[in-house]
Amino acid sequence: MGEGGGSVPIPRVVHLDDYTEAIGHAEVDELRVLAGRLAGRTVKMVNSTSVGGGVAEILNRMVPLLQELGVPTRWDVITGGNDFFEITKAFHNALHGAPYEPRPELLELFLAVNEMNRERMEFSEDFIVIHDPQPVALARQRQLQGSERRQGWVWRCHIDLSHPNQVVWSFLEPWVNRYDAAIFSSPRFSRQLPMPQYLFYPAIDPISEKNRELEPAYIQSVLDRFGIDARRPIATQISRFDRLKDPMGVLQAYRMVKKYTDCQLVLAGGGAADDPEGGQVLAEVREAAGNDPDVHLLELPPWSALEINALQRASTILVQKSLREGFGLTVAEALWKKKPVVAGAVGGIPTQVIHKHTGMLVHSVEGCAYQIRYLLSNPAAAARLGENGREHVRQNFLITSNMKRYLVLFLLLSQHP
Ligand code: UDP
Repeated sequence: MGEGGGSVPIPRVVHLDDYTEAIGHAEVDELRVLAGRLAGRTVKMVNSTSVGGGVAEILNRMVPLLQELGVPTRWDVITGGNDFFEITKAFHNALHGAPYEPRPELLELFLAVNEMNRERMEFSEDFIVIHDPQPVALARQRQLQGSERRQGWVWRCHIDLSHPNQVVWSFLEPWVNRYDAAIFSSPRFSRQLPMPQYLFYPAIDPISEKNRELEPAYIQSVLDRFGIDARRPIATQISRFDRLKDPMGVLQAYRMVKKYTDCQLVLAGGGAADDPEGGQVLAEVREAAGNDPDVHLLELPPWSALEINALQRASTILVQKSLREGFGLTVAEALWKKKPVVAGAVGGIPTQVIHKHTGMLVHSVEGCAYQIRYLLSNPAAAARLGENGREHVRQNFLITSNMKRYLVLFLLLSQHP
């Protein structure tokens, strides 16, 4: 835990022209024009893990793209011990509404770890974008620098803050209030704050290993490796093993479906370096699954983008039965691959899954089982959802739209820092 902090090497070179197939020349040119207006201004992104989870996924794609656009961008990851990440995970759950009474020494530890990271980092860039609550107190740097440095500080909150635990929120709020702007993933996630707030949908990269087209032979080789039968229906949930992703509920829904309709269940996911609960949740699901040969619990290492892509493409249905959710990037990944999606009506999922148009929204285990059965027995309806889903992602949730919003925000901040 906490290893791998510091500056993340820029993952790999990408070429802007590779996006023209997905979004067209005009949109690509627009990105170039906007980036050109920034005239070499620099950006720093800070979050708490370089692997696992949606934020790392987005940064992994966005940072090289910003570089390619001529916007020098650095990505730093904060370090901390297990105790720090246990606190931040508890904060995360509490901000999603769970009860939590942090002891004062835990809050002090949170601030001390932020301070240690602040001292270790340099903040020389023009725009500093801090992702989520874990590093929020780095904003102390602002106060120390005073007003001699014209910088834009942005808090990018990926989680739903609409009903936070009040103790945790009142601790974090004064830190959030130090930023010049805040970004949320849905209008429903935000709170009353003194600075301007912006809506940025998270986004997927259509040419990344996670989302690009794959050869059928490769997909088959991944199924063979995991012992999954390509000739029978497959329902899959790709997620960290996290209670709020409800893997147990997915297992129960599968059991209800299986009484009437043949299918296999794949629950695939690894841990995230900032999520200490994963191992325990996986063990609980493993025990509940027993020795059903049609349940495949796959523990994936962080470098499994191609395997996840293959599993998504091989699946008949993709499930994301979250009980709480930030945006739910796995849903956009599934829709882009034209897959019928059955997903919990929480967080950013209803923005992506328009019920009966781009997928099926569910509110219970029974509802989840019902929709899986319905889609397994109505392949034409399932295919139609998939087609609509891809178009919905193309229009709203591609990384290029996300980049455009960032570039415009940086331009705004450079006018009114
Ligand atoms: N993911 C991954 N490996 C895993 C589990 C998930 O690469 O073992 C990816 C998944 O494909 C998606 C992201 O991590 O891109 C998860 O983002 P999401 O918003 O769905 O959930 P989060 O984990 O951020 O709560």
